[in-house]
Amino acid sequence: MEYEVPRLIRLQNVTKTYDNGVKALIDVTLRIKKGEFIFLVGPSGAGKSTLTKLLYREEMPDRGQIILNGKNVVRMRAREVPYLRRKIGMVFQDFRLLPRKTVAENVSFALDVIGASNKEIKRAVPAVLGMVGLKEKAAVFPGHLSGGEQQRVCVARAIVNNPILLIADEPTGNLDPGTSWELMKLFMAINRRGTSIIMATHAWDIVDRMKKRVIEMANGRIVRDEEEGAYRNEV
Ligand code: ADP
Repeated sequence: MEYEVPRLIRLQNVTKTYDNGVKALIDVTLRIKKGEFIFLVGPSGAGKSTLTKLLYREEMPDRGQIILNGKNVVRMRAREVPYLRRKIGMVFQDFRLLPRKTVAENVSFALDVIGASNKEIKRAVPAVLGMVGLKEKAAVFPGHLSGGEQQRVCVARAIVNNPILLIADEPTGNLDPGTSWELMKLFMAINRRGTSIIMATHAWDIVDRMKKRVIEMANGRIVRDEEEGAYRNEV
């Protein structure tokens, strides 16, 4: 009997229209298994961010079903949404760190807001800073870090809750090529520990080298979905 990997995400005929009438997603159907590493590619305005925002209920679809880890995201009550978001780590192109908090405080803040105990915070923060290679920078303020280091603080903050899914929107957009690769190695290590990753990106060299599943969007639709894909369709 074939072993079936549990499903993490199912989108069924999802359509999203913004208030201004823009159809950002049109009839999108998609399945993602636990543990997958996915590159989301396509030109600006294709609908990549909208797709990720629907997953953590920053936006609601007009039509269609969204199931994440067995939960119906569309029908979920407002009070359940924080629990959904705890399961999802987010990394952005522009870091979004708190400038007046140290590296360790930026990370512990993520645990604080979900009511973790001091004991838990004291254990988890150094562990995660060690994983991203920033143990020595725990007491430093973000403004004194390089772009690559700041992005690693963001990653630490995103994974400190052990999320099942990490969503990264253009995470290498402000990094040089060498630093971008360091970040990708970190993503691979996180993925190996079992966290699924969806990364929206224009970094074609990274996509081509990593040979992961590539989902390409254009004009609100999925136009290609390929295992071990490249940034551009080869045919
Ligand atoms: P991508 O991430 O691929 O660049 P987006 O999902 O951001 O694409 O955008 C898809 C389409 O939806 C674009 O036409 C964009 O202008 C539009 N859009 C995105 N966010 C909003 C919003 N909050 N209000 C209105 N239109 C939006």
